[in-house]
Amino acid sequence: MKKAFIGVYGCQMNVSDAERMEGQLGTIGYERTEAMGEADLILLNTCCVRETAEDKVYGKIGEIKHIKERNPNLIFGITGCMAQKEGEKLIRRAPHIDFVLGTNKVHELVHVVKGIQAERGHVVDVSIGETELPEGMPVTRGGKFSAWVPIMYGCNNFCTYCIVPYVRGRERSRLPEDVVREVEEAVGKGYKEITLLGQNVNSYGKDHGKADFAELLSRVDAVPGIQRVRFMTSHPKDLSDRVIEAIRDGKHICEHIHLPVQHGTNRILKAMNRVYTVEKYRDLARKIRENLPEASITTDIIVGFPGETEEDFHAMLDFIKEIRYDSAYTFLYSRRSGTPAATMENQVDEACKKRRLSELMDVQNGISREINEALRGKTVEVMVEGASKNDDEIWTGRTRTNKIVLWRHGAEAPGDFVQVRITQPQTWVLKGEIQ
Ligand code: SF4
Repeated sequence: MKKAFIGVYGCQMNVSDAERMEGQLGTIGYERTEAMGEADLILLNTCCVRETAEDKVYGKIGEIKHIKERNPNLIFGITGCMAQKEGEKLIRRAPHIDFVLGTNKVHELVHVVKGIQAERGHVVDVSIGETELPEGMPVTRGGKFSAWVPIMYGCNNFCTYCIVPYVRGRERSRLPEDVVREVEEAVGKGYKEITLLGQNVNSYGKDHGKADFAELLSRVDAVPGIQRVRFMTSHPKDLSDRVIEAIRDGKHICEHIHLPVQHGTNRILKAMNRVYTVEKYRDLARKIRENLPEASITTDIIVGFPGETEEDFHAMLDFIKEIRYDSAYTFLYSRRSGTPAATMENQVDEACKKRRLSELMDVQNGISREINEALRGKTVEVMVEGASKNDDEIWTGRTRTNKIVLWRHGAEAPGDFVQVRITQPQTWVLKGEIQ
């Protein structure tokens, strides 16, 4: 077998794409290696959401130049969002790159690699056409019990800070029968937890009209043998009552909704082109809590968006305190060239952004701790993942609400479902005893 090193940067969609790349490479005799230096083929599946992500990839490209000098037969390709954005500029800047494949071209990988094996040369393909979505691609999944299943690609939303719609194209939804078939295959192979993936899963099906996201969730929930269904990411403007009801009425759909709010004032939400208002978001949160009282709600928040005043920031803190998220990914606004927000006036200075971020994190950590404290003494169902990073005796898994639980290992195995009584709730994890 030849060896392929696949470096993955960025979001879960990139992880999922890389699993499909690995699957394809397996059909032409490559197996994955974690040692870049011994690889016959190196792929960097890249992200360009932040300029720092791109800088990291350029650093790696430089490192690979030395490997290629030692091994001229090495095939080196760049895929993913940065490939899409930069195209042939990458090869002009680093001619030791053999190919650049865009986000819509994952299925062309075998064809491109074979072409380069037969006749060395450069290939750049970053077209985003209206081609049909490729189905039936082989996939080599990273996990044994949890599988990612993309249900749609691209995004129509053009939030003013985000590069994704420019590098992943418009929304294209897979047909429901193709998604269900992939889920059935994964469950047939022993996967217990399926996460449905898309930039905005709530607008699933709007392009083909064959099923909406609520219907898809219910169909996946009904796949025999499935134990947990998750999904990400939701956009508040498209999260419908039907989806909330589908979660409520489903058996296996986990009560966790990641609902990025991004900000807590209408002025900044408008400048971000998020399309919803704080009133609409508040109403959504209320509906979720009424229908799914056990649900966890998590979010993404950006501080220091251009024009954010001290008053806006404090209004946002008040909103966060009102909604009470289980946890939040908090980000400093970072200028992304190619997006409208990068050229907006009134950019907030770095020191101010950092101070606001730290204030926000303090507020959110306090809320997370209080919410977790309410679980003290309660028993929760956990899907076992395995030993924790630092201690073989302490095992980890997740609740249906996506909280991390730690306990002293007994006889349980990865993939089992166990009951854990929470004895020490903390901000980020729940410590407990297996029942
Ligand atoms: S919804 Fe907004 S933030 Fe999310 S991928 Fe689309 S443009 Fe980016």
